[in-house]
Amino acid sequence: MIVVVKANAPEKEIEKLMEILKQKGMEINYSKGVDHIIMGLIGDTRSIDVDSIASIDIVDKVLRVQEPYKKANRTFHPEDSVIDVNGRKVGGKNFSVIAGPCSIESEEQILEVAKSVKESGATFLRGGAFKPRTSPYSFQGMGLDGLELLKLARKETGLPIVSELMSTEFLQAFVDDVDIIQVGARNMQNFAMLRELGMCDKPILLKRGMSATIEEWLMSAEYIMKEGNDNVILCERGIRTFETFTRNTLDLSAIPAIKKKSHLPIIVDPSHSTGMWWMVESMAKAAVAAGADGVMIEVHNSPETALCDGAQSLKPDKFRELMVTLNKYAELEGKVIG
Ligand code: PEP
Ligand code: MN
Repeated sequence: MIVVVKANAPEKEIEKLMEILKQKGMEINYSKGVDHIIMGLIGDTRSIDVDSIASIDIVDKVLRVQEPYKKANRTFHPEDSVIDVNGRKVGGKNFSVIAGPCSIESEEQILEVAKSVKESGATFLRGGAFKPRTSPYSFQGMGLDGLELLKLARKETGLPIVSELMSTEFLQAFVDDVDIIQVGARNMQNFAMLRELGMCDKPILLKRGMSATIEEWLMSAEYIMKEGNDNVILCERGIRTFETFTRNTLDLSAIPAIKKKSHLPIIVDPSHSTGMWWMVESMAKAAVAAGADGVMIEVHNSPETALCDGAQSLKPDKFRELMVTLNKYAELEGKVIG
């Protein structure tokens, strides 16, 4: 339930209203806008008499929220959320470009890719240290040694780092070492992990599960936010459909859908959604046009010998060209890569 309070309401009256609501067992999500104050009520709102709350002088209106997600709901928070990552912003007028290899493979590899994407204008560096592989016989990532190399690449380039957490066993290391913790598609509904991520204040990049509906995805964001961490960035990475030509089907319509239903920033991963490097440019451009707040792109200095996802990785020179194009597209959308 949402209680919309008039912006000019006296502080004392606001406090009185909040006290009434708290006494009814409600948790209040308070957000002050230019024209209104919005109180998002979380809890069992059945005991609340809408008419009696609406009749209070300072109350403009009372609305019931149909959706099961509350904190992630735009009705609770009409303005776009902008996530602060150590001073770098994701969302709003900023267009973020997260680039780097699927997996960290060696010091030489990660440093070379990191320097090249930085030179081309990427705003974050990605690299998997723990890899969720379909086959247990495939390369599983370098683990914590990989994370050390990613930190070295951050030191050399100044780019904040993004890496995927696969088990809460390493949560503290990720909280200490990375700038954005990625939750992969396969863990989107690992509720125990989401809950723990909600208890830290790190920005979380929450990828959409490959068979998850938009509502299920937002409910996963809600798990994190419920515990107090509002720093959630969504990432559309393609979903399973009957089509087998591409690795997944990029659901571009998820971008306006998320923008309508939620205030959280959303970025697009054209690499995992297509599985083919030559489709990445088209889908990245489409993502900007559809209103995304950023893209995440796999880049490798030697895709032919990559230990993971070489076929969908751009070479550094192709990435440089793509950045020139994305700068123009972002400008058309009134955004700046930064
Ligand atoms: C990744 O980004 O490295 C990854 C494994 O992606 P996803 O979870 O979307 O499959
Ligand atoms: Mn990958």
